[in-house]
Amino acid sequence: MKSFLVRCFLLTALVVLSVSSLATAARANNLAELSYFQTKETKVAGQDVFRIEIGAKADELKYAVSTKPYFARQIIVDINNARQGKLRSSINLKSELARRVNIQDMPDGHAQIRITCNQDVEEGSYKVYTLPADRKQGTPTRIVIDIMKEAAPSVSTSGVGSVKGHKIAIDPGHGGSDSGAVGPRGVTEKSVTLAVSQKVRSILEGSGARVIMTRDTDRDVYGVNATDKQELQARVDVGTREPGVEIFVSIHCNAFSNSEASGTETYYYASSAQGKKLATLLNEELIKAGGRTNRGVKTANFYVIRHSPMPASLVELAFVTNYEEERLLSDPQYQDRLATAIARAISRYFGQ
Ligand SMILES: [Zn+2]
Repeated sequence: MKSFLVRCFLLTALVVLSVSSLATAARANNLAELSYFQTKETKVAGQDVFRIEIGAKADELKYAVSTKPYFARQIIVDINNARQGKLRSSINLKSELARRVNIQDMPDGHAQIRITCNQDVEEGSYKVYTLPADRKQGTPTRIVIDIMKEAAPSVSTSGVGSVKGHKIAIDPGHGGSDSGAVGPRGVTEKSVTLAVSQKVRSILEGSGARVIMTRDTDRDVYGVNATDKQELQARVDVGTREPGVEIFVSIHCNAFSNSEASGTETYYYASSAQGKKLATLLNEELIKAGGRTNRGVKTANFYVIRHSPMPASLVELAFVTNYEEERLLSDPQYQDRLATAIARAISRYFGQ
């Protein structure tokens, strides 16, 4: 009895096995072999796109697209009627948008493409579709995966009015051989002033202004062995070299021997009413956006504001010698806020 049952079971198993292997073989014969792989950088409706094309000799490629929350950077494309074929199972990509494609035959008899992007995949950040074979081009039927480059994370320009047609000089304090003040963790004033100034420039240019920078790299404006006066006059000269520059804004970070000192202040040259107006608007906006202690709007004889023929202001964003403010000053998002505040103040100065 017992042996008969076992035999029966074995026989059944054998039959099932052969039927299923027949089915697999039959399906395999209908599977298109993936044989084509191309990538390129292109543009779609003005947007930068990284395109991956995977193809096979087939009338049609049937596919399904999915993403998995736990593989947030992957786009998964299951091609129902294909298998890996001639393509390598792992292909590294040279793109800032995606780093790798993995191609794998799945146990149930289809090919799975997994694209690993450099950022989390979001709806609308990619597109999958098919293209028919093109005999002229010698390309087979393809599945196309377009990965869209997000518009560069632009600084928020909210509240910045139009500065169209205005000419503005921006002076990132220090630079090159002169680090300016240095914070307890080594953040240099020259790096903060340059980063914030570049952001200010991009916002103002985006709002229609022409911006003249006294420097836009880490360098001395006059030269390495200049006297303070030569260096500062060189900055004033950049502002006057081009005719029609209307205002001069010099950007600095404060420093003090006591690391408790903190806050924001703005300066103007005492006899300049327009300089006072500019410094006042800069102070208002920087305090609103930066949230630090308001040390006020002050007069001073700083070289650049005294010698600029146009209304000028020097801003001390915060103290790089203060632990908390050093951290904030080196944070790109905080820099964005300060830059937007400066641009907003400038647009208000011009009556916008
Ligand atoms: Zn300084």
